[in-house]
Amino acid sequence: MHYEGNIIRPPSEANSILLQVTVGCSRNKCTFCGTYQGERFRIKPDSVVMADIAFAARYCRRQRRVFLCDGDVLIVPQKRLLNILARIKIELPWVTRVGAYANVKSLKMKTLDELRELNAHGIGIVYLGMETGDDVTLKNINKGTTTAGLIQMGRKAMEAGFKLSITVLLGIAGRERSHIHAKETGRVLSEIDPDYVGALSLMLIPGTPLYADHEAGKFPLLRPDELLQELKIMIANTNLSKGLFHANHASNYLPIKARMPRDKEATLTLIDEALAGRVSLKPEWLRAL
Ligand code: SF4
Repeated sequence: MHYEGNIIRPPSEANSILLQVTVGCSRNKCTFCGTYQGERFRIKPDSVVMADIAFAARYCRRQRRVFLCDGDVLIVPQKRLLNILARIKIELPWVTRVGAYANVKSLKMKTLDELRELNAHGIGIVYLGMETGDDVTLKNINKGTTTAGLIQMGRKAMEAGFKLSITVLLGIAGRERSHIHAKETGRVLSEIDPDYVGALSLMLIPGTPLYADHEAGKFPLLRPDELLQELKIMIANTNLSKGLFHANHASNYLPIKARMPRDKEATLTLIDEALAGRVSLKPEWLRAL
């Protein structure tokens, strides 16, 4: 397979065929994100993508899912993207689902009918990096969107038929806005009501603006107990009709897997137990991004 730059994928796509359609992310301005530092966003030539699909047809016959990398595949013109999906269907008939990252901008650029068309042609799940439901923090981290935009586009993605997985970031609001961040994130998640929520804990990446702020004493990293408190408030304020709320990413101190609303109370109790020191937390050296 032909890869350029840094390739990332959601944890749930660990066994997927990683098909790189774009390089980088068209925004590349979020203050905490170092994934595509210095990378100019571009769409890869169709010939390269098609050659990768042909490679996968020979060597990836046991992988049932395809994940379209990098950050912004939905930005690819509709005809081109449909062409790629059609080729996946023909050459990889055993593939049951195609996934991709989405953001507010790329979801806005497609009409609802276009998104429905992509869903009908194989894209079954999109992953939306929300980070926070607090408008002030969204502005501080230069996310380039508002909670109103996130709610609108999150709902649009679901209306189009995609499964929706949303990522939120514990610790991203710092200490002063931690409570508001937790509460507002719960509110926005409840308004979107996605299928999956993944909570990660902020880890600073050298070279990013947020890392520089931290070094200059302008941005504090929360302690494990503060992150747990934030997670507790977030979950207490999140009302999903049937979604999964996971905080089992390698960056988290306390792994959580909750089916909402069924496991909500038990999860809040577990966090209380951890805060009281009766459940052990992941040691620092085992945390990773
Ligand atoms: S967080 Fe997402 S949208 Fe922001 S720069 Fe990183 S990849 Fe792009």
